[in-house]
Amino acid sequence: MGSLGSTKDFDVFNGFYNTINGKLTTTEKTRHGTNPATGKPLAEVPVSTQQDVDDAVAAAKAAFKTWSKVPLADRQKAVKDFADGLEKYVPEFGKLLTSEQGKPNQFAVGEIQTGVHWLRALADIKFDEQVVQEDDDKQVIVRYTPLGVTVGIVPWNFPVHLACGKIAPSVITGNPIIIKPSPFTPYCDLKLGELAQQYFPPGVVQVLSGDDNLGPWLTAHPGPDKISFTGSTFTGKKVMESASKTLKRVTLELGGKDPAIICKDVDIATVAQKIGTLAFLNSGQICLAIKRIYVHEDIYEKFREAIVAFTKTLKVGEGNEEGVFLGPIQNSMQYEKVKTFFSDIEKEKWNVAVGGKNEDKPGYFITPTIIDKPADDSRIVTEEPFGPIVPLLTWKDEDDVIARANNTKMGLGASVWSNDLEQASRLARQLEAGSVWVNTHLEVDPNAPFGGHKESGVGSEWSISGLRSFCNSQTLYLKKRA
Ligand code: NAD
Repeated sequence: MGSLGSTKDFDVFNGFYNTINGKLTTTEKTRHGTNPATGKPLAEVPVSTQQDVDDAVAAAKAAFKTWSKVPLADRQKAVKDFADGLEKYVPEFGKLLTSEQGKPNQFAVGEIQTGVHWLRALADIKFDEQVVQEDDDKQVIVRYTPLGVTVGIVPWNFPVHLACGKIAPSVITGNPIIIKPSPFTPYCDLKLGELAQQYFPPGVVQVLSGDDNLGPWLTAHPGPDKISFTGSTFTGKKVMESASKTLKRVTLELGGKDPAIICKDVDIATVAQKIGTLAFLNSGQICLAIKRIYVHEDIYEKFREAIVAFTKTLKVGEGNEEGVFLGPIQNSMQYEKVKTFFSDIEKEKWNVAVGGKNEDKPGYFITPTIIDKPADDSRIVTEEPFGPIVPLLTWKDEDDVIARANNTKMGLGASVWSNDLEQASRLARQLEAGSVWVNTHLEVDPNAPFGGHKESGVGSEWSISGLRSFCNSQTLYLKKRA
């Protein structure tokens, strides 16, 4: 590890370093990400070593001693100041995010603004001790004490929003955090870490970038007390297994296979447009994207016509082009995975309602595609492609559609679309998912717990329950007389 010292001359576009113990540090080996729209290499970033991990954990442990004693209001203020600091660089971070992640610039800017909003909103949550019992004789108080050092492991689809959603609750509750971005999208997160040094003491917010060794090193290390992980169900299981060896706390935010159930009384044109948007946003690379669309059989044909017409209007292209809705798939590995669903079209004799073919051009672009009534046990209905290809299915009986919607190991989100609020509420309450919406989907709120049922996750993040997930509970039983 080499040290560059100052973090004062902040420039979003230049110099990508680890932040360890308040300093920008370099590594002997470096690597680079790839702009997914052009296939061109981006700037070099550190490849952290085991020594870097040891150094960051030691710095975080040292920082814990003082940071955990800083009054809550001061920790909340530091997070709000950090939010103000990030807000000054929204356009720059947006541009950097488009170059590394691929998403259209307006959505990249939106993601940075969401990160700012999450930092602020989480810092506004009242987090006082609670007196749960009081009489002449005794008082019983429940308080929440910080765990120690935490690690935030972040995926490549929303690197800034999800990192902010881990940094804020961790440091507000008194826990220094080490952020590990995905090797596919390290740039914005390294800059978040650098910027954070202006608002937090050394060791409170650190960021390490690396290759595929880094995540396992962090989860296995005896130092950290909690892993807050967002990523695939497959990796989440490995994280839990590794963390179990030292009984680290884990929060796992994992994959999804969200159903949307469309009832027959909806305004077809409006709802088809909304469903298409919520299935294809971020090129389908959202844990909470709509991934199965169940349309009532009475309106199926008209709905298909409307969603096909809408999908045809969606522009695919490089994120800086005007009017682009779908940027490229973020990386080559994911691109190849999404393309396997396209290879299955012919093999499985799926009917294509729209899309179905991809142009052979540079960049990882995929045409938004709808598969018309595939079998319920087909891959496109049971697996998460994490790309812009989605099945359109039909239903007529409420019990049957609920059973099919719930017939998955996933349980992240689900929605019901109806103007009959009684019917919508009846259906919504039977869905097995951590977030259930009526007449919308994907809308999340920093004041509401976010987490998955079944194999979509363990625990929840954000809101007061998210803050508590970075703490031990402690019950104080105070007898008034000895
Ligand atoms: P991924 O599981 O491949 O990687 C996530 C992170 O884990 C990356 O930083 C990666 O480097 C790291 N990692 C990989 N192997 C590891 C290991 N053995 N130990 C520790 N860390 C390791 O996921 P991805 O491909 O980056 O993201 C896509 C997936 O994430 C999708 O399944 C999506 O649904 C899910 N996701 C879930 C949420 C949610 O909040 N529930 C949000 C976004 C994405």
